[in-house]
Amino acid sequence: MLAGRMLPVVNVGTKSLGDYATIAARGLMHEIRRLAEPLAGKRVVHLSATAFGGGVAEINYTLVPLMADAGLDVEWRIIHGADEFYDVTKRIHNALQGEPGGLTAQQRETFGRYQRLNAERFGGDYDFVIVHDPQPAGMIDAAGDSTAKWIWRCHIDLSSPNPEVLDFLVPSIRRYDAAIFHLEDYVPGGAGLPASYIWPPAIDPLAPKNMALSAEDAAYIVDQFGVDVSRPLLTQVSRFDPWKDPLGVIDAYRLVKARHPDVQLALVGSMAHDDPEGWDYYNRTVAHAGGDPDIFILSNLNNVGSVEVNAFQVHSAAVIQKSVREGFGLTVSEALWKARPTVAGRVGGIVVQVDDGVTGWLVGSPQECARACVEILDDPAAARELALRGKEHVRRRFLMPRLLRDWLALFNRLAGSGAEDVELVTVAV
Ligand code: UDP
Repeated sequence: MLAGRMLPVVNVGTKSLGDYATIAARGLMHEIRRLAEPLAGKRVVHLSATAFGGGVAEINYTLVPLMADAGLDVEWRIIHGADEFYDVTKRIHNALQGEPGGLTAQQRETFGRYQRLNAERFGGDYDFVIVHDPQPAGMIDAAGDSTAKWIWRCHIDLSSPNPEVLDFLVPSIRRYDAAIFHLEDYVPGGAGLPASYIWPPAIDPLAPKNMALSAEDAAYIVDQFGVDVSRPLLTQVSRFDPWKDPLGVIDAYRLVKARHPDVQLALVGSMAHDDPEGWDYYNRTVAHAGGDPDIFILSNLNNVGSVEVNAFQVHSAAVIQKSVREGFGLTVSEALWKARPTVAGRVGGIVVQVDDGVTGWLVGSPQECARACVEILDDPAAARELALRGKEHVRRRFLMPRLLRDWLALFNRLAGSGAEDVELVTVAV
Protein backbone atom coordinates (compact mmCIF):
# COMPACT_ATOMS: atom_id res chain seq x y z
CA MET A 1 0.00 0.00 0.00
CA LEU A 2 1.42 3.44 -0.88
CA ALA A 3 2.09 5.50 2.25
CA GLY A 4 0.72 8.61 0.54
CA ARG A 5 -2.65 6.93 0.17
CA MET A 6 -2.96 6.00 3.81
CA LEU A 7 -5.62 7.76 5.87
CA PRO A 8 -4.09 11.00 7.15
CA VAL A 9 -2.97 11.30 10.77
CA VAL A 10 -4.13 14.29 12.83
CA ASN A 11 -1.38 16.17 14.59
CA VAL A 12 -2.68 16.52 18.14
CA GLY A 13 0.45 17.88 19.79
CA THR A 14 1.34 16.81 23.30
CA LYS A 15 -0.32 17.01 26.70
CA SER A 16 0.87 15.96 30.10
CA LEU A 17 -1.24 14.00 32.56
CA GLY A 18 0.68 15.58 35.41
CA ASP A 19 -0.94 18.93 34.59
CA TYR A 20 -4.32 17.48 35.57
CA ALA A 21 -3.22 16.41 39.03
CA THR A 22 -4.58 19.53 40.72
CA ILE A 23 -7.98 19.16 39.03
CA ALA A 24 -8.61 15.42 39.31
CA ALA A 25 -8.82 13.54 42.60
CA ARG A 26 -5.53 11.95 43.62
CA GLY A 27 -7.10 8.49 43.67
CA LEU A 28 -8.13 8.88 40.05
CA MET A 29 -4.63 9.84 38.94
CA HIS A 30 -3.22 6.76 40.73
CA GLU A 31 -5.83 4.58 39.11
CA ILE A 32 -4.91 5.94 35.66
CA ARG A 33 -1.22 5.15 36.24
CA ARG A 34 -2.08 1.66 37.49
CA LEU A 35 -4.34 0.91 34.53
CA ALA A 36 -1.81 2.30 32.05
CA GLU A 37 1.04 0.04 33.18
CA PRO A 38 0.00 -3.22 31.48
CA LEU A 39 -0.88 -1.27 28.34
CA ALA A 40 2.54 0.31 27.75
CA GLY A 41 3.32 0.44 24.04
CA LYS A 42 -0.05 -0.96 22.92
CA ARG A 43 -0.97 0.37 19.50
CA VAL A 44 -4.26 2.29 19.33
CA VAL A 45 -5.88 4.10 16.43
CA HIS A 46 -8.92 6.39 16.48
CA LEU A 47 -10.88 6.65 13.22
CA SER A 48 -13.32 9.51 12.66
CA ALA A 49 -14.82 11.59 9.88
CA THR A 50 -13.39 14.99 10.70
CA ALA A 51 -10.68 16.68 12.71
CA PHE A 52 -12.65 19.86 12.84
CA GLY A 53 -16.03 20.81 14.27
CA GLY A 54 -18.27 18.90 16.64
CA GLY A 55 -17.78 16.90 19.79
CA VAL A 56 -15.66 14.00 18.52
CA ALA A 57 -12.89 16.31 17.32
CA GLU A 58 -13.13 18.29 20.54
CA ILE A 59 -12.62 15.17 22.66
CA ASN A 60 -9.87 13.60 20.56
CA TYR A 61 -7.61 16.65 20.63
CA THR A 62 -7.21 15.97 24.36
CA LEU A 63 -7.90 12.25 24.72
CA VAL A 64 -5.36 11.18 22.10
CA PRO A 65 -2.35 13.09 23.54
CA LEU A 66 -3.29 12.00 27.07
CA MET A 67 -3.42 8.36 25.95
CA ALA A 68 0.05 8.91 24.50
CA ASP A 69 1.28 10.43 27.75
CA ALA A 70 -0.11 7.40 29.58
CA GLY A 71 2.27 5.22 27.52
CA LEU A 72 0.14 4.00 24.62
CA ASP A 73 1.30 4.22 21.02
CA VAL A 74 -1.76 6.08 19.76
CA GLU A 75 -2.77 7.93 16.62
CA TRP A 76 -5.92 9.46 15.15
CA ARG A 77 -6.71 9.07 11.47
CA ILE A 78 -9.37 10.76 9.37
CA ILE A 79 -11.33 8.80 6.81
CA HIS A 80 -11.63 9.97 3.25
CA GLY A 81 -14.98 11.30 2.06
CA ALA A 82 -16.59 13.57 -0.50
CA ASP A 83 -19.97 15.33 -0.49
CA GLU A 84 -21.76 12.30 -1.98
CA PHE A 85 -20.60 10.30 1.06
CA TYR A 86 -21.29 12.99 3.67
CA ASP A 87 -24.78 13.52 2.24
CA VAL A 88 -25.44 9.85 3.04
CA THR A 89 -23.75 9.89 6.46
CA LYS A 90 -25.70 13.00 7.49
CA ARG A 91 -28.86 11.19 6.39
CA ILE A 92 -27.82 8.22 8.53
CA HIS A 93 -27.03 10.51 11.46
CA ASN A 94 -30.40 12.23 11.21
CA ALA A 95 -32.26 8.92 10.84
CA LEU A 96 -30.51 7.46 13.88
CA GLN A 97 -31.70 10.50 15.83
CA GLY A 98 -35.25 9.71 14.74
CA GLU A 99 -35.85 11.41 11.38
CA PRO A 100 -38.26 9.35 9.24
CA GLY A 101 -37.32 7.97 5.84
CA GLY A 102 -34.89 5.23 4.91
CA LEU A 103 -31.92 4.91 2.61
CA THR A 104 -32.12 4.37 -1.13
CA ALA A 105 -30.21 1.55 -2.81
CA GLN A 106 -27.91 4.20 -4.25
CA GLN A 107 -27.21 5.67 -0.80
CA ARG A 108 -26.43 2.22 0.60
CA GLU A 109 -24.08 1.56 -2.29
CA THR A 110 -22.29 4.91 -1.77
CA PHE A 111 -21.85 4.22 1.95
CA GLY A 112 -20.45 0.73 1.30
CA ARG A 113 -18.12 1.93 -1.44
CA TYR A 114 -16.49 4.51 0.86
CA GLN A 115 -16.13 1.92 3.63
CA ARG A 116 -14.18 -0.34 1.27
CA LEU A 117 -12.14 2.54 -0.10
CA ASN A 118 -11.18 3.66 3.42
CA ALA A 119 -10.41 0.11 4.53
CA GLU A 120 -7.97 -0.14 1.59
CA ARG A 121 -6.19 2.95 2.89
CA PHE A 122 -6.01 1.57 6.39
CA GLY A 123 -3.57 -1.05 7.50
CA GLY A 124 -1.19 -1.72 10.31
CA ASP A 125 -0.72 -3.78 13.33
CA TYR A 126 -3.00 -2.29 15.95
CA ASP A 127 -4.09 -3.69 19.30
CA PHE A 128 -7.20 -1.49 19.46
CA VAL A 129 -9.15 0.24 16.70
CA ILE A 130 -11.62 2.86 17.97
CA VAL A 131 -14.25 3.81 15.41
CA HIS A 132 -16.19 6.99 16.18
CA ASP A 133 -19.80 7.29 15.04
CA PRO A 134 -21.47 5.79 11.97
CA GLN A 135 -19.33 7.35 9.23
CA PRO A 136 -16.49 4.74 9.41
CA ALA A 137 -18.58 2.04 11.15
CA GLY A 138 -18.58 -0.30 8.13
CA MET A 139 -14.80 -0.36 7.64
CA ILE A 140 -14.69 -3.40 9.91
CA ASP A 141 -16.51 -5.42 7.22
CA ALA A 142 -13.56 -4.95 4.89
CA ALA A 143 -10.85 -5.24 7.54
CA GLY A 144 -9.88 -8.75 6.51
CA ASP A 145 -7.73 -10.61 9.00
CA SER A 146 -7.25 -7.76 11.49
CA THR A 147 -6.32 -9.15 14.90
CA ALA A 148 -7.07 -5.89 16.67
CA LYS A 149 -9.92 -5.44 19.12
CA TRP A 150 -12.43 -3.16 17.41
CA ILE A 151 -14.53 -0.76 19.51
CA TRP A 152 -17.44 1.31 18.20
CA ARG A 153 -17.87 4.62 20.05
CA CYS A 154 -21.32 6.06 19.39
CA HIS A 155 -21.73 9.78 20.17
CA ILE A 156 -25.29 10.30 18.98
CA ASP A 157 -28.75 10.15 20.50
CA LEU A 158 -30.02 6.65 19.69
CA SER A 159 -33.06 6.76 21.95
CA SER A 160 -35.60 6.57 19.11
CA PRO A 161 -33.76 5.57 15.94
CA ASN A 162 -35.34 5.05 12.57
CA PRO A 163 -35.31 1.19 12.60
CA GLU A 164 -34.64 0.78 8.91
CA VAL A 165 -31.41 2.75 9.07
CA LEU A 166 -30.37 1.18 12.36
CA ASP A 167 -30.89 -2.27 10.81
CA PHE A 168 -28.64 -1.25 7.94
CA LEU A 169 -25.75 -0.62 10.37
CA VAL A 170 -26.34 -3.42 12.89
CA PRO A 171 -24.61 -6.25 10.93
CA SER A 172 -21.40 -4.18 10.98
CA ILE A 173 -21.72 -3.21 14.65
CA ARG A 174 -22.19 -6.88 15.61
CA ARG A 175 -18.64 -7.58 14.42
CA TYR A 176 -17.10 -5.26 17.02
CA ASP A 177 -15.58 -6.48 20.27
CA ALA A 178 -17.30 -3.72 22.25
CA ALA A 179 -19.60 -0.75 21.76
CA ILE A 180 -19.83 2.36 23.91
CA PHE A 181 -22.83 4.63 24.34
CA HIS A 182 -23.40 7.80 26.38
CA LEU A 183 -26.61 6.51 27.99
CA GLU A 184 -28.15 3.12 28.64
CA ASP A 185 -31.23 4.39 26.87
CA TYR A 186 -29.23 4.52 23.61
CA VAL A 187 -28.30 0.83 23.47
CA PRO A 188 -30.43 -0.83 20.79
CA GLY A 189 -32.12 -3.73 22.54
CA GLY A 190 -32.29 -7.18 20.95
CA ALA A 191 -29.89 -6.28 18.15
CA GLY A 192 -27.27 -8.85 19.14
CA LEU A 193 -24.64 -6.17 19.67
CA PRO A 194 -21.29 -6.90 21.34
CA ALA A 195 -20.68 -6.11 25.03
CA SER A 196 -21.94 -2.57 25.44
CA TYR A 197 -20.53 -0.04 27.87
CA ILE A 198 -22.07 3.18 29.08
CA TRP A 199 -20.01 6.19 29.84
CA PRO A 200 -20.40 9.85 29.01
CA PRO A 201 -17.72 11.90 27.26
CA ALA A 202 -15.82 14.69 29.00
CA ILE A 203 -14.36 18.14 28.54
CA ASP A 204 -10.77 19.24 28.93
CA PRO A 205 -10.58 21.85 31.70
CA LEU A 206 -7.09 22.90 30.57
CA ALA A 207 -7.79 23.35 26.85
CA PRO A 208 -8.05 26.92 25.48
CA LYS A 209 -11.83 26.31 25.21
CA ASN A 210 -12.20 25.80 28.96
CA MET A 211 -9.17 27.24 30.71
CA ALA A 212 -9.75 30.00 33.26
CA LEU A 213 -10.42 33.33 31.59
CA SER A 214 -11.08 36.46 33.63
CA ALA A 215 -14.33 38.36 33.19
CA GLU A 216 -12.29 41.32 31.92
CA ASP A 217 -10.46 39.26 29.30
CA ALA A 218 -13.71 37.63 28.19
CA ALA A 219 -15.40 41.02 27.80
CA TYR A 220 -12.40 42.34 25.90
CA ILE A 221 -12.68 39.50 23.38
CA VAL A 222 -16.49 39.59 23.03
CA ASP A 223 -16.39 43.37 22.56
CA GLN A 224 -14.33 42.87 19.40
CA PHE A 225 -17.28 41.14 17.75
CA GLY A 226 -19.48 44.20 18.21
CA VAL A 227 -21.37 42.95 21.28
CA ASP A 228 -22.23 45.70 23.78
CA VAL A 229 -20.52 44.28 26.86
CA SER A 230 -22.48 46.54 29.21
CA ARG A 231 -25.75 44.81 28.20
CA PRO A 232 -26.74 41.19 28.95
CA LEU A 233 -25.87 38.50 26.43
CA LEU A 234 -27.41 35.08 25.82
CA THR A 235 -25.26 32.60 23.86
CA GLN A 236 -25.70 29.25 22.17
CA VAL A 237 -22.56 27.53 20.83
CA SER A 238 -23.54 24.87 18.29
CA ARG A 239 -23.21 23.65 14.78
CA PHE A 240 -25.97 25.02 12.52
CA ASP A 241 -28.17 21.96 12.66
CA PRO A 242 -31.92 21.38 13.08
CA TRP A 243 -31.31 19.23 16.21
CA LYS A 244 -29.65 22.22 17.90
CA ASP A 245 -32.73 24.37 17.13
CA PRO A 246 -31.08 27.76 16.50
CA LEU A 247 -34.42 29.04 15.15
CA GLY A 248 -36.09 28.13 18.45
CA VAL A 249 -33.33 29.99 20.29
CA ILE A 250 -34.11 33.13 18.28
CA ASP A 251 -37.81 32.73 19.11
CA ALA A 252 -36.94 32.42 22.80
CA TYR A 253 -34.66 35.49 22.61
CA ARG A 254 -37.52 37.53 21.13
CA LEU A 255 -39.75 36.60 24.07
CA VAL A 256 -36.99 37.55 26.50
CA LYS A 257 -36.50 40.86 24.69
CA ALA A 258 -40.10 41.81 25.42
CA ARG A 259 -39.19 41.78 29.12
CA HIS A 260 -35.52 42.81 28.88
CA PRO A 261 -35.19 45.09 25.84
CA ASP A 262 -31.43 45.42 26.32
CA VAL A 263 -30.73 41.67 25.87
CA GLN A 264 -28.49 40.46 23.02
CA LEU A 265 -28.06 37.00 21.50
CA ALA A 266 -24.97 35.29 20.09
CA LEU A 267 -25.25 32.12 18.00
CA VAL A 268 -21.76 30.76 17.62
CA GLY A 269 -21.50 27.79 15.31
CA SER A 270 -18.60 26.22 13.50
CA MET A 271 -18.92 24.63 10.09
CA ALA A 272 -17.92 20.97 10.39
CA HIS A 273 -16.26 19.53 7.29
CA ASP A 274 -18.52 16.49 7.25
CA ASP A 275 -21.75 18.47 7.47
CA PRO A 276 -22.95 19.61 4.02
CA GLU A 277 -26.32 20.57 5.55
CA GLY A 278 -24.61 23.17 7.72
CA TRP A 279 -24.63 26.02 5.22
CA ASP A 280 -28.28 25.58 4.42
CA TYR A 281 -29.17 25.78 8.09
CA TYR A 282 -26.81 28.70 8.63
CA ASN A 283 -28.66 30.63 5.91
CA ARG A 284 -32.01 29.76 7.43
CA THR A 285 -30.80 31.00 10.81
CA VAL A 286 -29.58 34.29 9.35
CA ALA A 287 -32.93 34.74 7.60
CA HIS A 288 -34.83 34.01 10.83
CA ALA A 289 -32.79 36.67 12.66
CA GLY A 290 -34.22 39.15 10.16
CA GLY A 291 -31.36 41.64 10.44
CA ASP A 292 -31.83 42.25 14.20
CA PRO A 293 -28.67 44.18 15.18
CA ASP A 294 -28.71 42.58 18.64
CA ILE A 295 -28.35 39.06 17.19
CA PHE A 296 -24.77 38.03 16.42
CA ILE A 297 -24.39 34.98 14.19
CA LEU A 298 -20.76 33.96 14.20
CA SER A 299 -18.67 31.01 13.11
CA ASN A 300 -15.09 29.94 12.57
CA LEU A 301 -15.34 32.00 9.37
CA ASN A 302 -15.41 35.08 11.61
CA ASN A 303 -12.30 33.73 13.29
CA VAL A 304 -14.18 32.36 16.27
CA GLY A 305 -11.87 29.70 17.62
CA SER A 306 -11.63 27.97 20.99
CA VAL A 307 -10.58 31.01 23.01
CA GLU A 308 -13.37 33.09 21.51
CA VAL A 309 -15.93 30.37 22.34
CA ASN A 310 -14.54 30.36 25.87
CA ALA A 311 -14.94 34.16 26.04
CA PHE A 312 -18.54 34.08 24.79
CA GLN A 313 -19.44 31.41 27.34
CA VAL A 314 -17.70 33.23 30.23
CA HIS A 315 -19.23 36.58 29.32
CA SER A 316 -22.83 35.38 28.89
CA ALA A 317 -25.55 36.05 31.42
CA ALA A 318 -26.95 32.68 30.39
CA VAL A 319 -25.70 29.93 28.08
CA ILE A 320 -28.38 28.15 26.07
CA GLN A 321 -28.29 24.70 24.49
CA LYS A 322 -31.82 24.31 23.25
CA SER A 323 -31.31 20.99 21.47
CA VAL A 324 -34.28 18.85 20.49
CA ARG A 325 -32.03 15.75 20.22
CA GLU A 326 -28.57 15.57 21.72
CA GLY A 327 -26.12 12.69 22.11
CA PHE A 328 -24.42 14.40 25.03
CA GLY A 329 -23.89 18.11 24.40
CA LEU A 330 -20.36 18.99 25.48
CA THR A 331 -21.33 22.66 25.37
CA VAL A 332 -23.48 22.13 28.46
CA SER A 333 -20.57 20.89 30.56
CA GLU A 334 -18.41 23.64 29.07
CA ALA A 335 -20.88 26.27 30.27
CA LEU A 336 -21.36 24.73 33.71
CA TRP A 337 -17.60 24.37 34.19
CA LYS A 338 -17.45 28.17 33.75
CA ALA A 339 -20.21 28.48 36.38
CA ARG A 340 -22.60 30.03 33.87
CA PRO A 341 -26.38 29.74 34.33
CA THR A 342 -27.30 27.10 31.76
CA VAL A 343 -30.62 26.60 29.98
CA ALA A 344 -30.78 23.41 27.92
CA GLY A 345 -33.17 21.09 26.10
CA ARG A 346 -34.67 18.29 28.20
CA VAL A 347 -33.26 15.64 25.86
CA GLY A 348 -30.57 12.98 25.48
CA GLY A 349 -27.31 13.40 27.34
CA ILE A 350 -28.23 16.87 28.55
CA VAL A 351 -30.36 15.44 31.34
CA VAL A 352 -27.37 13.76 32.99
CA GLN A 353 -25.58 17.10 33.07
CA VAL A 354 -28.36 19.43 34.21
CA ASP A 355 -30.57 18.74 37.20
CA ASP A 356 -33.57 20.98 36.55
CA GLY A 357 -33.92 23.68 39.21
CA VAL A 358 -30.80 22.45 41.01
CA THR A 359 -27.86 22.99 38.67
CA GLY A 360 -29.60 24.66 35.72
CA TRP A 361 -32.81 24.79 33.69
CA LEU A 362 -34.24 22.07 31.42
CA VAL A 363 -36.67 23.29 28.79
CA GLY A 364 -38.86 21.85 26.07
CA SER A 365 -40.03 24.89 24.11
CA PRO A 366 -38.99 28.45 23.20
CA GLN A 367 -41.49 29.68 25.81
CA GLU A 368 -39.91 27.63 28.60
CA CYS A 369 -36.47 28.66 27.40
CA ALA A 370 -37.48 32.33 27.52
CA ARG A 371 -38.98 31.96 31.00
CA ALA A 372 -35.72 30.47 32.29
CA CYS A 373 -33.65 33.26 30.71
CA VAL A 374 -35.93 35.93 32.20
CA GLU A 375 -35.57 34.31 35.63
CA ILE A 376 -31.79 34.41 35.24
CA LEU A 377 -31.74 38.03 34.09
CA ASP A 378 -34.13 39.03 36.89
CA ASP A 379 -31.94 37.52 39.59
CA PRO A 380 -28.38 36.79 38.43
CA ALA A 381 -27.12 36.09 41.97
CA ALA A 382 -29.66 33.30 42.52
CA ALA A 383 -28.88 31.89 39.06
CA ARG A 384 -25.21 31.76 39.91
CA GLU A 385 -25.92 29.55 42.91
CA LEU A 386 -27.31 26.89 40.58
CA ALA A 387 -24.42 27.32 38.17
CA LEU A 388 -21.85 26.81 40.92
CA ARG A 389 -23.54 23.56 41.88
CA GLY A 390 -23.43 22.60 38.21
CA LYS A 391 -19.70 23.22 38.11
CA GLU A 392 -19.16 20.77 40.98
CA HIS A 393 -21.23 18.17 39.18
CA VAL A 394 -19.04 18.58 36.07
CA ARG A 395 -15.89 18.39 38.19
CA ARG A 396 -16.94 15.02 39.56
CA ARG A 397 -18.28 13.42 36.39
CA PHE A 398 -17.36 15.08 33.12
CA LEU A 399 -13.66 16.00 33.14
CA MET A 400 -11.12 14.30 30.88
CA PRO A 401 -9.14 12.23 33.44
CA ARG A 402 -12.29 10.20 34.15
CA LEU A 403 -12.78 9.51 30.45
CA LEU A 404 -9.16 8.41 30.07
CA ARG A 405 -9.61 6.06 33.02
CA ASP A 406 -12.69 4.49 31.43
CA TRP A 407 -10.82 3.85 28.17
CA LEU A 408 -7.81 2.32 29.94
CA ALA A 409 -10.08 0.05 31.96
CA LEU A 410 -11.82 -1.17 28.81
CA PHE A 411 -8.51 -1.81 27.00
CA ASN A 412 -7.36 -3.91 29.96
CA ARG A 413 -10.57 -5.91 29.97
CA LEU A 414 -10.42 -6.57 26.24
CA ALA A 415 -6.74 -7.49 26.44
CA GLY A 416 -7.40 -9.81 29.36
CA SER A 417 -5.05 -7.84 31.61
CA GLY A 418 -7.46 -7.19 34.44
CA ALA A 419 -9.33 -4.06 35.53
CA GLU A 420 -12.39 -6.13 36.38
CA ASP A 421 -12.52 -4.19 39.66
CA VAL A 422 -12.89 -0.82 37.89
CA GLU A 423 -16.48 0.24 37.83
CA LEU A 424 -17.76 0.51 34.25
CA VAL A 425 -21.43 0.23 33.39
CA THR A 426 -21.93 -2.77 31.13
CA VAL A 427 -25.23 -3.52 29.52
CA ALA A 428 -26.30 -6.98 28.51
CA VAL A 429 -27.66 -6.87 24.96
N1 UDP B 1 -17.89 24.21 18.99
C1 UDP B 1 -16.94 25.18 18.72
N2 UDP B 1 -17.26 26.21 17.93
C2 UDP B 1 -18.49 26.34 17.42
C3 UDP B 1 -19.46 25.34 17.67
C4 UDP B 1 -19.11 24.28 18.47
O1 UDP B 1 -15.81 25.11 19.20
O2 UDP B 1 -18.70 27.32 16.71
C5 UDP B 1 -17.52 23.11 19.88
C6 UDP B 1 -18.25 23.18 21.21
O3 UDP B 1 -17.60 24.09 22.08
C7 UDP B 1 -18.19 21.73 21.66
C8 UDP B 1 -18.25 20.96 20.35
O4 UDP B 1 -17.87 21.86 19.32
O5 UDP B 1 -16.96 21.48 22.29
C9 UDP B 1 -19.66 20.45 20.06
O6 UDP B 1 -19.92 19.31 20.81
P1 UDP B 1 -21.37 18.91 21.26
O7 UDP B 1 -21.28 17.63 21.99
O8 UDP B 1 -22.01 20.05 22.01
O9 UDP B 1 -22.20 18.75 19.91
P2 UDP B 1 -21.93 17.98 18.51
O10 UDP B 1 -21.46 19.03 17.56
O11 UDP B 1 -20.93 16.90 18.76
O12 UDP B 1 -23.29 17.46 18.12
